[in-house]
Amino acid sequence: MNLGIFGGTFDPVHRGHLTLARHAFEQCGLDQLLFVPAGYPPHRPPPHANAAHRQAMLELAIADEPQFAISPCELTRRGPTHSIDTLAHLAARHPTATLFLLLGGDAWRSFRRWHRWADILDIAQLVVLDRAATAGHEHHADKKPVAGPPAQFLSGPPLAISATAIRAALKDPAKNADQLRAWLPAAVLDYIAAHRLYR
Ligand code: ATP
Repeated sequence: MNLGIFGGTFDPVHRGHLTLARHAFEQCGLDQLLFVPAGYPPHRPPPHANAAHRQAMLELAIADEPQFAISPCELTRRGPTHSIDTLAHLAARHPTATLFLLLGGDAWRSFRRWHRWADILDIAQLVVLDRAATAGHEHHADKKPVAGPPAQFLSGPPLAISATAIRAALKDPAKNADQLRAWLPAAVLDYIAAHRLYR
């Protein structure tokens, strides 16, 4: 069985995440794909929305896609969780599965800074979709491009969508309505409005 694993803060989940997940599913021949929302990511500030809201938005986003599921394993663990621990846990739970770890281009480029990154490569194959520059994820054309470790690159146009840009647009949802509809699944946008998130 080919099992995809897609970690992130998903604060909130957006169409960039879903596009990466669908491309990986098709192009890697996955049988199932697990979204793994982070509890307290070790390398970045705490998420804006709490874990219950981020999980609820993920559930709405994948409601029509039975091949996608959510693993709450990082949410139920106390304190920061490193990807190596999550992958080891999932590898033990799915001993016959081949694991594929999904990454955006930015995460792939900084991968060698991850805790025990070389051990991750022993457990999972990396699958990467590049992303276009957006707020929070600018490309620095003047800097030498950094390459990450060996990976399978997905084909598909890079999407200029980031949760950072979405949270900024949600400061004025009426003015940015068109853009928000393009970036977020409708059910997620409705949920954000109903719960007054990211104000
Ligand atoms: P933020 O702007 O808050 O950093 P984000 O949009 O990068 O959020 P994360 O939850 O941090 O979302 O990302 C989880 C994973 O999804 C990372 O590997 C990231 O590179 C990838 N990803 C996010 N957006 C895109 C996109 N538009 N295209 C490809 N990969 C993406």
